[in-house]
Amino acid sequence: MRIYESEEKDISLPEIDILSFLFDSDWCLAKEDTEIHVEAANPANSITKAEARDVVRRTAYTFREKFGIGSSGPGKDVVVCTSSGNPFLPVLFYSMVGAGGVFSGASTAFTVGELLRQVKDADAKLLLCSAEFEERTVEAAKQCGISRDRVLIIDSRIPKKWNLIQSSSRSPLLHLGDGPMQEWQRITTREEQHAVTGCLLYSSGTTGLPKGVRISHLNLVACSPCCMNVGERYRARCAREGQPFVLKTIAHLPMAHVAGIAWYSLNPVYLGGTTYWMEKYDFDTFIEYHRRYRPTLQFSVPPIWLQIAKSPKVTDHFDNLRVASTGAAPMGLELAKDVSQRLGKGKTRLSQFWGTTETTGSITGSDWEVVDDTFSVGGIFPNVRLRILDDNDRDVEQGQPGEVLVDGPIVCQGYHNRPEANRDSFLDGFYRTGDIGIYKNGLMYIVDRKKELIKYKGLQVAPAELEDLLVSHAKIEDAAVIGVQDLAQATEVPRAYVVAKPGSGVTAQELVNFVKEGLSSHKQLRGGVIFIDEVPKSPSGKILRKELRARAAKEAASL
Ligand code: AMP
Repeated sequence: MRIYESEEKDISLPEIDILSFLFDSDWCLAKEDTEIHVEAANPANSITKAEARDVVRRTAYTFREKFGIGSSGPGKDVVVCTSSGNPFLPVLFYSMVGAGGVFSGASTAFTVGELLRQVKDADAKLLLCSAEFEERTVEAAKQCGISRDRVLIIDSRIPKKWNLIQSSSRSPLLHLGDGPMQEWQRITTREEQHAVTGCLLYSSGTTGLPKGVRISHLNLVACSPCCMNVGERYRARCAREGQPFVLKTIAHLPMAHVAGIAWYSLNPVYLGGTTYWMEKYDFDTFIEYHRRYRPTLQFSVPPIWLQIAKSPKVTDHFDNLRVASTGAAPMGLELAKDVSQRLGKGKTRLSQFWGTTETTGSITGSDWEVVDDTFSVGGIFPNVRLRILDDNDRDVEQGQPGEVLVDGPIVCQGYHNRPEANRDSFLDGFYRTGDIGIYKNGLMYIVDRKKELIKYKGLQVAPAELEDLLVSHAKIEDAAVIGVQDLAQATEVPRAYVVAKPGSGVTAQELVNFVKEGLSSHKQLRGGVIFIDEVPKSPSGKILRKELRARAAKEAASL
């Protein structure tokens, strides 16, 4: 068995829960008075680490005493949360976990149908949302028999006067400045850390529909120390050079994605920094906040870095940025060079991270201190082991491409209620990423994707979800969806190859509109609809996506 691992020593991780790790241990560099979360639009609306600890205890009390969260046993009762960005959101995430429950972020772009699917799949006990999503959340609750008084509205507009409001009675349920407190549930052994789920995030993995990924306390505790050793080296350099180590970042990616959990709720607190929360991403406001708050660290996705590289509006906005990283989707070397020109007065290089929801985010990452002209996805993080296998699960020769499999404390517990997917997604404890990589000179290169997944601007689109919807259309016989490149936007976009029922006369526009009604914005058929006579399939009925991808490449070449 050929195993690849970090050139650095493994880290001896503490055997504690994520809240003790963040709020009660020397691992976390945030001080008691560090403003760990701040509303970007209104910086008076902020929370220090000491305040957050109290809020967690109050909220944990309410979740437990009034809604029974945690009563089924630690890490079992799921709370689904659909919220725009605000500094209260990460604190609610800590609180749900503190109550012994499970945080499950849902996309703010979801239709009622999509939200309903997640709420049912997760068997959610309580639903939280910000005000603009109340109608959709109440409807989803109604359709699956959750009573309206179990829908709570997050009201975080008035600085330091945050409330949770019950949707049914409109009465404030929990005022976060006062009220009874309760200790969070402590974990003191490795077994419990492994066994207790803290987050349920949705990912389609290598195939099929989105599934709940069970992220344990161990995964959450391991996330920052394993991936942020690069941040720590940067901190050490600042100390050596007598420079202040200031860590500020702007939260603009969704908390329903693992990037929001890792890059905003865990890593900055761990490194002793501040996260400024945008309510909703838009480019102009994002760059304006960069000018206003002068962040030093920013993780983002390729289409946003493209905008930064190309927009004439960007002048000195990113001059202060010292650490800049891309991830969640592939990015080319040329774009990376263009981006780097714009950062830190042309002195900050863009680095790259690679990971998945199932690995609590990053598996590899480039060191901000080391120049890598090849723009790899970096070296393997400590505590992580990789294998690279061919189609018959045999090790490939070193330097050859193959599917990358991962083991280590960042690898999730598996999918919620999906024994079959768990069987197919793991090999001897190693998670199959579905990504094709080459490992050479201590660096990883992701060169292709074996799994079906499409990434639109870093967000997951599961072809199976679109295919299920399309074949439910009365005029459609069969459908297959693949991702095609939209170079102008540095992203993949979903394209449908469709077999129409004979004589149905269905048009591409009709299908585009049909998908618009059923699914959220990032899943739209931006790559178009192409009618074909037959979907290519294997004898066992599996869609031969490779053939469709080859066809799409030919179509692109003939344009
Ligand atoms: P998600 O679970 O939504 O984070 O999606 C994970 C998938 O995104 C990976 O399996 C890759 O296919 C893709 N991905 C993430 N980061 C990168 C990267 N730096 N380069 C190429 N693909 C990436």
